[in-house]
Amino acid sequence: MAARRVGMFGGAFDPPHRAHRALAETALEQLQLDVLHILPTGQAWHKSRTLSAAEHRVAMCQRAFGDLPRVVLDEREIHRLGPSYTADTLSELQREYPGAELFLVLGADQLLAFKTWVRWEEVLELATLAVANRAADIGAHAALDQTRETDLSGVELPFQPLRMPLRNISATDVRARVGQSAPDAGALGVLVPEAVASYISQHHLYQPPQ
Ligand code: ATP
Repeated sequence: MAARRVGMFGGAFDPPHRAHRALAETALEQLQLDVLHILPTGQAWHKSRTLSAAEHRVAMCQRAFGDLPRVVLDEREIHRLGPSYTADTLSELQREYPGAELFLVLGADQLLAFKTWVRWEEVLELATLAVANRAADIGAHAALDQTRETDLSGVELPFQPLRMPLRNISATDVRARVGQSAPDAGALGVLVPEAVASYISQHHLYQPPQ
């Protein structure tokens, strides 16, 4: 039987962290998804920073999400030639799961930027936006327990809120911490799943060039 409720959760995942994992778990449960596709991006058109090699990001996603039920690690955006757009991925998923209801899982910062996305109107036609709030001050060294939510009251877009405790973690913060003090896998485990922490240590990711 074709899946009826299909989620898509895209990100650079450089690296995947504990808030990403919580968001995936929340989406699976609250949206009652039959399947959730996790999509590490190619070199994302809207990020100016060069991402870590796709091979590392995929390996870390496997470690971060691989044990969750009904999750598919989907590498299509990495392999797509040229720029990769969410509208294209959703169209493909619609063809692959005929008649399914599609959900696009994202955080509040991405909702605020949504109208800058290429063909965002098409995205809205294809999928329901399912949005987790995110602490208002994100970035390197914002307090982990920061509880001020991003204000989404001015957003004039239909979306379904996901209820999830705020976790003030960003991949930027993780990379900055590793780069500054090379914390051991245990200390890093507060921010990223243990298996991701050991992968980062083993492969010396996010270290400044010697
Ligand atoms: P970076 O700091 O490098 O920009 P990031 O932490 O925002 O990365 P991404 O891989 O860009 O991580 O995010 C993928 C998706 O996860 C986006 O929709 C983003 O909004 C969401 N997300 C990331 N961190 C959180 C968080 N702490 N709470 C809620 N949503 C989050």
